[in-house]
Amino acid sequence: MNSGAMEEMDPAFTALQRDYLREAPARLAELRKDLAAFRAGEADALDSLRQRFHRLAGSGGSYGFPRVTDVARAQEHRIMTPPEPTAATDADAIDHAINQLKSAFDDAAIDVGIPMLLGRLAGFGWRALVVMGDSEPRRAIVQALEETGFVATSHDTPIDPWDVAPSERPDLVIIGSEAGDDPLALARYWAAPSPERPRAVVLADPENRFDRLRIAAAGVDAVFGPTTLPRGLAQYARALAQIGAPPANVVVVEDDPHQAQLLATWLGQLNARVSICESAQVAREALAHETPDLVLLDVDLPDVDGYALARLMRQDPRLALVPIVFLTAHHTLADEMEGLRAGGDDFIAKPIERSHLLQVVLTRTERGRRIRDLVHRDGLTGVLNHATLMAELEHSLAFATRHGEALTFLMLDLDHFKRVNDTHGHLVGDQVLMHVARVFRKVIRGSDMLGRYGGEEFGIILRRCPPANGRSIAEKLRQALSDAPITIADTEPIALRVSIGVASFPGSGVTATDVASSADRALYRAKSSGRDRVEMG
Ligand code: GH3
Ligand code: MG
Ligand code: MG
Ligand code: MG
Repeated sequence: MNSGAMEEMDPAFTALQRDYLREAPARLAELRKDLAAFRAGEADALDSLRQRFHRLAGSGGSYGFPRVTDVARAQEHRIMTPPEPTAATDADAIDHAINQLKSAFDDAAIDVGIPMLLGRLAGFGWRALVVMGDSEPRRAIVQALEETGFVATSHDTPIDPWDVAPSERPDLVIIGSEAGDDPLALARYWAAPSPERPRAVVLADPENRFDRLRIAAAGVDAVFGPTTLPRGLAQYARALAQIGAPPANVVVVEDDPHQAQLLATWLGQLNARVSICESAQVAREALAHETPDLVLLDVDLPDVDGYALARLMRQDPRLALVPIVFLTAHHTLADEMEGLRAGGDDFIAKPIERSHLLQVVLTRTERGRRIRDLVHRDGLTGVLNHATLMAELEHSLAFATRHGEALTFLMLDLDHFKRVNDTHGHLVGDQVLMHVARVFRKVIRGSDMLGRYGGEEFGIILRRCPPANGRSIAEKLRQALSDAPITIADTEPIALRVSIGVASFPGSGVTATDVASSADRALYRAKSSGRDRVEMG
């Protein structure tokens, strides 16, 4: 980092620097606009770019940002030196330079204490831009987005990225297949790789006008057709913000304290919770207690190399799916192959570029969460599946043993559920199961765990819960379900009853199997004495 100490001594200068950086997004937007004009072959674009780079080279120097000056001066110099730059030969280099400026501004903003200003990747603004003629599908899309929590702005006519003020940049752009003469060209503009790129650019194609492969080639992230509009789009939009809640949990294994602190600061902008470990051994202990969303793993560590820790993680079923991103100083093909063999997912070369790091963490974390959901959750009801529920019970029992806490496990079985299937069909039966999971989830606390034990049987782990409380929660669950009959389409309301077996710890054994069979025996007694009852194991 540059001369931070000196600037701290002069608050007036720091205030000037901040003012200058607040204007940086506007400067970058002007450059991008000129670059687009240059690519489009406009005559004065190149001279305008030259002047802008010239001014940035000067101002970067006066405000104490030498990286800004270096990048801008190199571009100014290139433009003035024959052969005359053309879009074909130089546009990509200019684009790269603009991204470097962005990154230099970002780092400078962190140094002067206003990191959120430019950190576009960091916050998720819930801003959606809908470019689509006024129509029934558009109204439905806007309504679905607003219900999901987005602030949606609609435009009847095409609007280009550089015409939107930096503070108004959308997180999600929806382009209608009727937007302007060439909706795919518009999508290509919005989806062009740059740090300003929205998190997602999607095409709403209610009439299936376009070929899917052509759409994907334009850089579009997802397309929604007649059967998936507007609900599928709303679901997708909600998932975009998922890394925000709960906050991503990132373990950073890095022995250089300055590097580790810098990474932690950057990750803080993604709202991530960061644990720093200075050796593989420390990381190993941290990983015994938590299952992070992602591990950033330095290859050169003081005890063993990062590959060894990766191999160890991959042998543990709990950590087998956690994304591992290696941080490497020297990075040969052989290193990369060893890293892949050890179970790494990605590599970031040092010195680390901030926006690259954040993008990798963001996408890996999101996809990792999606994969773990598929593996750990029941596809019908969304609650934990059998294997995960039992693993969590085992884990919770070990924790309760160590800390001398009580725990209650409930086994719940719907009464006469077969009749629902026989009378209304299996699809209605499925909807009833989803309804039951929703009712149960409302009664329990966020820290309790609900899973599907089997067909129409559920299990609930109540942490820090002594037997008497366990019993009263079981009564509450039974009551909540009988108070919430379900009406599906034109059927009569379907009344629902549940029998519950309660097992408590300590008392019902020490392993998950002991505790589950104790609850199962209590459930059997509840069923035998006429159903719709709670029995203690
Ligand atoms: P009891 O009061 O003794 O618990 O009787 P029951 O009918 O609830 O229990 P039984 O074990 O006889 O039947 C359970 C039924 O649950 C049979 C099975 O077809 C149904 N079932 C299991 N899984 C699913 C599912 O995913 N969807 C649907 N629709 N039905 C399921
Ligand atoms: Mg190191
Ligand atoms: Mg059953
Ligand atoms: Mg049953």
